[in-house]
Amino acid sequence: MRTPPDEVVVAIAVDPHHRGIATYGWAVSVDMAERYVRCILAHVLPGGTCERRGPMNWLWRSGSDGPEDMRAFDCALHDVAGVRVSDPECTARFIDVRMGIVHRSVVQATPWDVDDLVRVADVALHEAIAGGGAVVVAQPGTVEHFIARGEMAAEVAAAADADMFPLFQPIVSLSGASLSAAAPHGRGLHVTGYEALLRWRRNGEPVGPDVFLNLLELSELIVPVGRSVIGRSLDVLAGPVTEMLGPAAFMSVNLSAAQLRDRWLVDFLRESLADRGLGPARLWVEISENAVVAEGSVAAEVICDLHEVGCKICVDDLGAGVGALGYVRDLPIDVLKVDRALVGRMPTERTDRAVVRAICDLASASGVITVAEGVETEQMFSMVEELGFDMAQGYLFGRPGELG
Ligand code: C2E
Ligand code: CA
Ligand code: CA
Repeated sequence: MRTPPDEVVVAIAVDPHHRGIATYGWAVSVDMAERYVRCILAHVLPGGTCERRGPMNWLWRSGSDGPEDMRAFDCALHDVAGVRVSDPECTARFIDVRMGIVHRSVVQATPWDVDDLVRVADVALHEAIAGGGAVVVAQPGTVEHFIARGEMAAEVAAAADADMFPLFQPIVSLSGASLSAAAPHGRGLHVTGYEALLRWRRNGEPVGPDVFLNLLELSELIVPVGRSVIGRSLDVLAGPVTEMLGPAAFMSVNLSAAQLRDRWLVDFLRESLADRGLGPARLWVEISENAVVAEGSVAAEVICDLHEVGCKICVDDLGAGVGALGYVRDLPIDVLKVDRALVGRMPTERTDRAVVRAICDLASASGVITVAEGVETEQMFSMVEELGFDMAQGYLFGRPGELG
């Protein structure tokens, strides 16, 4: 049985990562892109209209009588996404192509006009460029998801700095020789510092980073937002925290991979500390073990410089990913924070307990401070104490809240 003709839109980006431009130069790459569309793509796209949207971008529309065999059409485009193109001297050059395809019959959007289909093709193209594959075909669910994410990204981008603010969660010392005299939790436990945790005030309600952090990271907005939040956290350290806990208390801040690529971060932190008369050891910076830091990268340089300045370097979420212990060997690490999921499994899982014991032994042998995250119950607390952790953090001692 023949399927009725479909309506299709294809958004095409040639050399989206500028690999060709970096290799062959701008003029040659634009020429290659034109040849590609004229000599290769044109044979695969049946009829329709192909409009140039920019030097390296095209948009093809089938009109209302699109290809009959949808699979064959998608497959043919996929087959010409990775190709070599020859110039007039017959020199073969590579060309990267990404395409986003939308079939009206797949997204089942009969009332939509063609501009909506173009938007969806662009969403699919975005997904392809972001690593989803050379050719991405829009699916009904993912389209709504991506459009909702786009709207949320716009909302996060428009949020004022004042709507992004830190809350502070206490970190308690488990050793008798605590750094401060404040003991809000009985049993001689002492708060030694706080972790600053970012919140977004959205429609009057604070929302946690799981909703928006990734969007701030993708747009690199985490760099200015992070600076503003660190500045405010240091104000709180210099003011109420020092008043409550004395001059040895610390503030721990989280840094995303994008913030670690910021070469000017070290100067910013050095000046921010000096402006407030704070010693550098009072600032802890937390780097998630998932933010893979390659030796020789800008991030590794930033970490070494921060250590040189005197800030404390913490590996965060230890045990949530892989390969974290390499950090201890390759980078100047002062603190290991064991991930909440791993801490949570300790009471029931013997192997997890053994892993944590090994981490604590390694840390104590190398003079590294250990912090257990996510301590919620008395049972977890006793285990953490018995394993010899130096510090602990979790709802048992206090939730993130305002200070001052
Ligand atoms: P994280 O650094 O691992 O922070 C600890 C998270 O665990 C926080 O979630 C905290 O509220 C939560 N938590 C603390 N104690 C407990 C407990 O006993 N039980 C449970 N179930 N949860 C507990 P939050 O605030 O939602 O932050 C999530 C993540 O967002 C953080 O994980 C951190 O990676 C990131 N983040 C937070 N603030 C910032 C920031 O200012 N900059 C950057 N770059 N990342 C941030
Ligand atoms: Ca953290
Ligand atoms: Ca953590």
